[in-house]
Amino acid sequence: MKERVLTGDRVTGKLHLGHYVGSLKYRVELQDQYETFVLLADVQALTTHFLHPEIIKDNVRNVALDYLAVGIDPEKATIFVQSLIPEIAELTVYYSMFVTVNSLRHNPTIKAESKAGDFDDMYYGFLGYPISQAADITFCKATLIPVGEDQLPHIEQTRKIVRRFNQLYQPVLVEPKPLIGEVPRLIGLDGSHKMSKSLGNAILLDSTKEEVAEKIKKVKTDPARIHKTDPGHPEICPIYAYHQAFRKESSDEIYQSCTKGQIGCMACKQKIAQSINDRLDPMRERRAAYLEHPKRVDEILMAGTENARIMAKETMREVRDAMGMNYF
Ligand code: ATP
Ligand code: MG
Repeated sequence: MKERVLTGDRVTGKLHLGHYVGSLKYRVELQDQYETFVLLADVQALTTHFLHPEIIKDNVRNVALDYLAVGIDPEKATIFVQSLIPEIAELTVYYSMFVTVNSLRHNPTIKAESKAGDFDDMYYGFLGYPISQAADITFCKATLIPVGEDQLPHIEQTRKIVRRFNQLYQPVLVEPKPLIGEVPRLIGLDGSHKMSKSLGNAILLDSTKEEVAEKIKKVKTDPARIHKTDPGHPEICPIYAYHQAFRKESSDEIYQSCTKGQIGCMACKQKIAQSINDRLDPMRERRAAYLEHPKRVDEILMAGTENARIMAKETMREVRDAMGMNYF
């Protein structure tokens, strides 16, 4: 049997370069070897966006288009909508019986995200979203999860849930492992937070060439460099981080030229804007082709969801059998 990959994204906004280097790139590379599942996490989006379900609705198609644009191939990968797989919600309830509130409260990503959201009291659904992710991963028995660094505590939580379930009942669930890429946390344009949909510090994958150039131009570089000949500190410069992520082969050279004051920030920015645009060009082409046939995107999502549902029903049956909850 082929091993399975599962990943997904909250449908809270269009995807950006952070998603690309942290996760999407690997999904495209792995889809030939692995049976690949890609989830549009609309229920998890509700944990922070329950007041604005219209944002979620708009972004289901936006994110699906991003997937197709980066090269996730619907012939190889199952792209599906989380809320249309009721077994995920069902598994979440079952697993929540043996996960303690304290283990969720101490999850470092939950802590960081709740501070950023300035919650004075956490919502139950938000606190529990790592359990819902365990349901996402286990319904299709995924073994490999290509994710950014922030997701590691959640994968660990899933592993614990799997072990606990298998030990309490019968060994029907499979333990996944994370796959962390070369760029586990791409810095945002603000230079202080990870690039993120909700922080407005991102270069979106559907940006035009001009938008990329404009955003790069505005990035604050090393404040110690007033003149081109002043020695720079690439390690604190987001532009250098982008060089490492998108022009790896010449990033040492950039490091040297910057620290020796041989290259100006403008020239350095032009180089990286060009490389990012080169990377986005094939995505622009694929996106344009799908935009001409928007019905095709809906068909892909419906077929993927149907496929995922078959697997979810099967796992749910095994889970209920393992628990002895097959009454009739
Ligand atoms: P939000 O702000 O709505 O939480 P996000 O930009 O953090 O959005 P998610 O949907 O939470 O994106 O993340 C989806 C996947 O992309 C996760 O595996 C996450 O680790 C990865 N990812 C997101 N941002 C980055 C980043 N800047 N660098 C590397 N990986 C990232
Ligand atoms: Mg996030």
